[in-house]
Amino acid sequence: MKKLYPIFVILIFSCFSIWLEVFNFNDELKVTFLNVGQGDSIFIQKRNYQILMDGGPGKRVVGELGREMSLWDREIDLVILSHPDHDHLNGVMEVFDDYVIKNVLWTGVVFDKSWERWKELLENEDCNVFIAKRGMKIYFDDAYLEVLSPSYSLEGFSFESLNNTSIVSKLVYGETSFLFPGDIDKKVEGYLINKGVDLEADVLKAIHHGSNDSNGSRLLEEVNPDIVVIQSGKNNYGHPGEETLRRFEKFGINILRNDALGSISLFTNGVNLFIKK
Ligand SMILES: [Zn+2]
Repeated sequence: MKKLYPIFVILIFSCFSIWLEVFNFNDELKVTFLNVGQGDSIFIQKRNYQILMDGGPGKRVVGELGREMSLWDREIDLVILSHPDHDHLNGVMEVFDDYVIKNVLWTGVVFDKSWERWKELLENEDCNVFIAKRGMKIYFDDAYLEVLSPSYSLEGFSFESLNNTSIVSKLVYGETSFLFPGDIDKKVEGYLINKGVDLEADVLKAIHHGSNDSNGSRLLEEVNPDIVVIQSGKNNYGHPGEETLRRFEKFGINILRNDALGSISLFTNGVNLFIKK
């Protein structure tokens, strides 16, 4: 696996961090790419910490979470919304109806559809709301998640397309890492590479459901993943794109697809990665 930064260095240089409470006895980090159809939804568990990143396009995520969480557990420590397009946001709003959300991390961008409902949910939930920008780190147990993009707060700004406003983050546990780049396209991929942002990771969530407008060769060289997970379902967008699939193959990356395998769980002890389909 790849590089390891000593934890103490990370602690010293973190300019901003959210600490999540709690404990448990299993040392493994579990990352499950939930089978929510055409959309992203990832559930991260480490000891008793639970983080949900995006919720897919609808209610399906609630059933998926029901399989991941125990019946009496109705709390999620952190919800991350990469960007408020419906295939990421709608499921998150469904989760708000069924679970207590303690913290929310999102970009604060202004958007049209569902804006009122989203703002109302945040206000009524009595949760801490954090606005993402590069350098933020979320520590939970002995793992952390670092925000790599956007590079500054987008709060209050509106955009024609929200894809490039996506939170790009990296989850690190020991020597293992996962890159979650939302739906950014090659423009932001190039920007991050040119800025020298460390994108290297063992596991890549295929960008924008495997779109041909993303997942470029330069990006794949930088990330250099062993595994790519494609979160897509039935769709009219041509996701995942044929060119992208060929690129993944050319780079010798193991491809895992939710549309073929259902939910996909990856486990790591900080050194090795294990797959459970
Ligand atoms: Zn999307």
